[in-house]
Amino acid sequence: MNMRPKKQQLLRWLPDALVQTRGSALGGTRYLTFDDGPDPDYTPRLLDLLARHGVNASFFLVGHRVEQHPALVERMVAEGHLIANHSWSHWSFKPMPLRKQVEEFQRTDQLLRSFDQQPQHRLRTPQGYLDTRLLLYCARHRRNIVYWSYDSMDYQKPSHGELVARLRAAPPKAGDIVLMHDDSDRATDALAVLLPEWLAQGQRFHALPGNAA
Ligand SMILES: [Zn+2]
Repeated sequence: MNMRPKKQQLLRWLPDALVQTRGSALGGTRYLTFDDGPDPDYTPRLLDLLARHGVNASFFLVGHRVEQHPALVERMVAEGHLIANHSWSHWSFKPMPLRKQVEEFQRTDQLLRSFDQQPQHRLRTPQGYLDTRLLLYCARHRRNIVYWSYDSMDYQKPSHGELVARLRAAPPKAGDIVLMHDDSDRATDALAVLLPEWLAQGQRFHALPGNAA
């Protein structure tokens, strides 16, 4: 989840079709992204909140959790959210051979395809890990990796008050890809307060476009 700012800087030099760290700022759009779901306890409340405000988002899903909770993924697609690929097991990619990393993505792609009929999905590795071999593989096979430009740091388990205060003090800007998680209530609770404020200020939120390949 966390990444050293220096690495983030380097990734910005790569073409968006290979590694995307920001979205289009046209129309003042921001892009909410949620990792690690679907979760039967937390995802439904988040989907309710997004629906209430007419906001679409992108969900980077863990394959084995998709298998356990398919109805939540059907709902995401039906409600206009982007579903994307956050590996099958969510194990660390660091000690994994490339062949196994690719298997993680391919197995999840295959399952996600049954929901949205797309052959490939945008990728985000667990913890944002990316080594040169995987980068070259993605370039060769036209796979697209999505990072973020705005880290909510909801995974650091801040209190509700802390998280709201921090996000309110420095809200996402146009074009920002916002990293959040739906394996707890933290992001949903904060957005329940902030989304109405941000929308009233004229901020707009959309799902990322799908995989170009
Ligand atoms: Zn994750």
